[in-house]
Amino acid sequence: MKLKFLSFFYILLISTIILCEQKIAIIGSGYVGLTMAAVLSKSGYEIICMDIDQEKVSQLQNNKVHIYEPHLEDFLFNNPESKNITFTDTLDDTVDAEIFYICVPTPIYENGHCDCSFLKVAFQSVVEHCRENIPRIIVVKSTVPPGTVSRLKKNIPDNKKEYIKVVYNPEFLREGSAIKDIYTTNPIILGGESEEALSTIEHLYDNLINEHVKVIRSNYETAEIIKYAWNSFSAIRIAYINELALLCRQYGANILEVVPGFALSEVLLPTERIVPGPGFGGSCLPKDTSEFSRLLEEKGFTSSMIHQAIQSNKDHKMRVIQDIYTLLGDIEVEKKVAILGLSFKANTNDIRNAPSIDIIEALLTSGVTVRAYDPKAIPEMKKIFPQVYYFNSPYEAIKDCDCIVILTEWEQIKQIDLAKAAQLCHKKNIVDARNLYDVRLLKKFGFNYINMGAL
Ligand code: NAD
Repeated sequence: MKLKFLSFFYILLISTIILCEQKIAIIGSGYVGLTMAAVLSKSGYEIICMDIDQEKVSQLQNNKVHIYEPHLEDFLFNNPESKNITFTDTLDDTVDAEIFYICVPTPIYENGHCDCSFLKVAFQSVVEHCRENIPRIIVVKSTVPPGTVSRLKKNIPDNKKEYIKVVYNPEFLREGSAIKDIYTTNPIILGGESEEALSTIEHLYDNLINEHVKVIRSNYETAEIIKYAWNSFSAIRIAYINELALLCRQYGANILEVVPGFALSEVLLPTERIVPGPGFGGSCLPKDTSEFSRLLEEKGFTSSMIHQAIQSNKDHKMRVIQDIYTLLGDIEVEKKVAILGLSFKANTNDIRNAPSIDIIEALLTSGVTVRAYDPKAIPEMKKIFPQVYYFNSPYEAIKDCDCIVILTEWEQIKQIDLAKAAQLCHKKNIVDARNLYDVRLLKKFGFNYINMGAL
């Protein structure tokens, strides 16, 4: 009888979500939380974003986003539908919500373990706020090791267990194209035990996805591992392409032709995703590969493949540093290097684990003067390296330098006038770690260059 009654409740919840504006609370207003808020509000849902960081919340309340993500600000504040979004630092304000998305960080502790403490606190607070007898769905979006969501669920008190359903729905967006990623073909993974709750969440995405998007339902652990599988495969792919570019460099092959030659899109991946660079960084790949490896070690195994991808990435960053020294020559003499691009990839201001950090650190340690340009990431990098000279134009950064180093594939950097750059620098050296420039142009303007295997 009780079961029937509850099923009725969930059918009611699904129908109300279909028929009228429902309230969704998003806990954690970072890259994932704000992107979810933006796209769900565009689909007509009423959104309340909650974050414990009062400064971020007050900026958001004043229509300012503390991170840079293309189109995010427009989606949040310049849409007729965006009136449906409010921001708060008080969980009490979210009590009316039917669905809670938890998008809080899960970083890596110094001992290499995934730190789920933010998630535990957020989950527990939401559970405490959910009143008895009212059905609620908690959707965990944060990346977590297998077993985490099942453990969280066990902490729901008995009197609320039947009313609170938990879904694990890992996120696959990439910073720099977060909004676009949600609207395209990434799969929707839904881990859970309640078919009704899974259907409710699947339905929320009806307006976002096209017919090519696959929805996969599974248990929590499978969904948790799918997320690690995704990021670890990306890391292996990046390490692989960087080594392939190295092979091309050593044997006079052209990586730009090798990639379309082997990556026939139906078989592998779209070729635009297989490009060499200065090594992977960001908030996800480094921590998720490290967690993948640790999880196996915990069970007495070694993940030699993931281990190698992590090591290969470290080696690759060291090689980029070596390339800079090769072009600089004698560093006893005071040298100036212009770093173009600080964020770990284009279209984001995120510098977490960015290769630029290791590279700048090595250069500063050798006594090299570093001049840097980035369209969005300078304020973040200033906090780590106040001694670097920062410029708002690539040409100012290049002026009088002994070597230009391209680390991020920003359009503003791709569009640089190489003739002008050649005139401005002291020595015409360039390490193009993103293969941004046509080598014929580099040669035409007299640059000594090292790139990632492009001819
Ligand atoms: P973020 O650091 O950008 O944002 C997280 C926000 O959560 C912060 O603003 C923080 O103040 C807030 N927060 C922390 N504890 C809280 C609490 N108890 N209540 C309310 N707010 C709280 O993190 P992110 O990049 O959005 O990542 C969130 C999760 O999603 C992580 O697990 C990450 O691994 C995963 N993920 C991230 C990306 C990405 O590209 N950034 C992609 C896919 C998955």
